[in-house]
Amino acid sequence: MNFSDLGLAEEILRAVTEHGYTTPTPIQAQAIPAVLSGGDLMAGAQTGTGKTAGFVLPILQRLSSKPAQATAGGRSPIRALILTPTRELAAQVEESVRTYGKYARLSSMAMFGGVSINPQIQRLKSRLDILVATPGRLLDHVQQRTIDLSHVEILVLDEADRMLDMGFIKDIKKVLALLPKQRQNLLFSATFSDEIKTLADGLLNNPALIEVARRNATAENIAQKVYEVNRDQKRQVLTHLIKTHQWYQVLVFTRTKHGANRLAEQLGKDDIPALAIHGNKSQGARTRALAEFKSGKLQVLVATDIAARGIDISELPHVVNYELPNISEDYVHRIGRTGRAGADGEATSLVCVDEFDYLKGIERLIKRSLPREIIPGFEPDPNARAQPIQMRSQDHQGQRSGRGQPRSTSSPAKPRSAQAKPGPAKPGPSKPGPARPKARPGGEISGGRPSSGHRSGGRHS
Ligand code: AMP
Repeated sequence: MNFSDLGLAEEILRAVTEHGYTTPTPIQAQAIPAVLSGGDLMAGAQTGTGKTAGFVLPILQRLSSKPAQATAGGRSPIRALILTPTRELAAQVEESVRTYGKYARLSSMAMFGGVSINPQIQRLKSRLDILVATPGRLLDHVQQRTIDLSHVEILVLDEADRMLDMGFIKDIKKVLALLPKQRQNLLFSATFSDEIKTLADGLLNNPALIEVARRNATAENIAQKVYEVNRDQKRQVLTHLIKTHQWYQVLVFTRTKHGANRLAEQLGKDDIPALAIHGNKSQGARTRALAEFKSGKLQVLVATDIAARGIDISELPHVVNYELPNISEDYVHRIGRTGRAGADGEATSLVCVDEFDYLKGIERLIKRSLPREIIPGFEPDPNARAQPIQMRSQDHQGQRSGRGQPRSTSSPAKPRSAQAKPGPAKPGPSKPGPARPKARPGGEISGGRPSSGHRSGGRHS
């Protein structure tokens, strides 16, 4: 099959071809005709499957084939709204809109927090067909009455599971209330929790259902390696691996922001150019680090889960779990950064005795065992005893508040105050419990930004 078999218009095909795509990915092959038909869609697709083009291409086509209806004020309205959980993903999706929409004569904008609102207000005064936004900043505009969503024809919830994880459900509901009842709804999610199903039930009307990769399955073209190491030798092991294998582009995950900073600094001392990105970094710093990493100037990018979400670097060769995530699903998201869209990739995990239970949880989730290997010269101490794992940096809020426990396996959600304490979270799975904690009352902001207290739900936007 190729793109021209999918019913796409010539101007869109041209942009896709120029971008170098020849064959649609499985999600694209299914989603594009479904969206073109005008119906609702619920798609289960991991990041890395090509899902973005799966919704962007048919949206471009639908909007270009039908002229906009001017609003009462004679202005051209916002016709498609794409909500994403993170700033990076919003920027990336909007970039795709511009790339694929090169010949489509539609205008787009990425809207997210962490940057001044005024240029966005200015931009909203001119024509805007497709808005890609994170929920928090979008609602800031709603509050300031600088945006009109009453003519949206197509709504996309991208990475809906992540948005719920981040406590955006209330924000999403507020946004839904501002949209016209008659519209097309597309929901993309890597996993289908009960919460996602409830959201889908209330949102989607007789949706087409598409699921491309098995849920929580890890891509087959990713080689997964687990090295058992001593807790305090991880940094030497990482330096050793990077230098001996001459890894030139490595995305490294740490559990905390503080850990990310420290590791980037230490790698620098080992003559390995590295920068950290996380929620405490300014948007400018995050964008710069990402751009340098993407262009190949920066050898190592150290990231926390949330900051890395939505990073799209095609054919990223190496992902390293410097620390295993405490939420098993995050492992799948992390390693999905490599081996994207058919390219081979390698995901390496450095696991110490404290993390064995996390590893078990991950193996259970991906239904596959990950044999532990030992690197000669870095043999782990066979007598080492597990110590409690610190969930978040002690000096500031956590990366993702309310997520200090394994999601699929944790005991019931604890209030924020209990979770904010570092350790001694029992590592690893225990008995099955309810899904992740809900947004906390009081509107605390997660992602390392200070609380503004005016809205409930986590905000990273
Ligand atoms: P996504 O899952 O949308 O984040 O896309 C993952 C990666 O696949 C991105 O780097 C895209 O540029 C790339 N990609 C998307 N569609 C195709 C395609 N049909 N052929 C090759 N690469 C693609």
